[in-house]
Amino acid sequence: MDIVNNEYDIESKNTTGPKSRIRDVQGRLKGRRALVTGASKGIGRDIALALAKDGADVAINYRSSEVAADEVARWLEGLGVNTWVYPADVSDMNSVKEMKRCLEKYFGGIDILVNNAGINVDKLFVKMDQKMWDQVISVNLTGVFNCTNAFIDRILESEHGRVINITSIVGQMGNIGQVNYAASKAGIIGMTKALAREMARKNVTVNAIAPGFIETDMVRGIPDKVKEKVLAQIPLGRFGQPSEVAKAVAYLASDDAAYITGHVLNINGGMYL
Ligand code: NAP
Repeated sequence: MDIVNNEYDIESKNTTGPKSRIRDVQGRLKGRRALVTGASKGIGRDIALALAKDGADVAINYRSSEVAADEVARWLEGLGVNTWVYPADVSDMNSVKEMKRCLEKYFGGIDILVNNAGINVDKLFVKMDQKMWDQVISVNLTGVFNCTNAFIDRILESEHGRVINITSIVGQMGNIGQVNYAASKAGIIGMTKALAREMARKNVTVNAIAPGFIETDMVRGIPDKVKEKVLAQIPLGRFGQPSEVAKAVAYLASDDAAYITGHVLNINGGMYL
């Protein structure tokens, strides 16, 4: 995704320019603090921007793309919200706990956790080894456990606690070469539904978003021939944009969605089984 063409482009750090889109800030998340994992690029970056656009202070987690993460932070600052950037591997509980310790010291507790960080290591099952399985499960599924487990105490203290997990259409329908990825994403759906039941009496909502094929590095890596085949299966005839997922996250984080929990929201251009 090219941020310059992105809907949330604020053109520069100039927040008063006539073309600046920050005039669109709705403020429905004002006073809330969010942590978005994997927010240095792709869908996570747009989620961070969408939450900030709605007035939330947003902490940005990433693993290795420091320059990109810092750039996201500058855009958020341009929107007039507080931000904080921290590199942590979500698959490593010690690193997640250290992120939490620093976050609470420099940023504060959080109301909203968006578990977005994810990877794919694709191979046909007959060629898939245990390392490929472990890698994907540990980031995509254990990563969601680690972050939710570490931060749930603070989310429970919030009057507007939200956990929003990014799963995938692949977790619902499967995909050739993605047995590990599909298992991790299907696992997230089960976690979401179980945790939603546990958290309901504490007024914390837990939902998932299942994007179809969204234009990010993850989809850009698909060979052209395969892309053509996928496109042919999308009724709306195009790949989705990260901002289209991000807006749904901002909605689920808001009070407008206070009665929605345990839900999996499909954002897939009509691409069902
Ligand atoms: P992306 O562009 O590759 O971005 C992935 C993000 O996750 C990056 O910020 C990356 O940080 C971070 N990340 C990766 N491993 C991490 C780790 N161990 N700890 C912390 N952060 C880590 O991917 P995307 O397409 O935006 O995907 C975002 C989420 O949406 C993923 O969960 C993916 O499975 C899901 N999804 C994507 C699509 C799609 O079509 N794109 C469809 C359905 C679901 P660094 O760059 O710093 O490593």
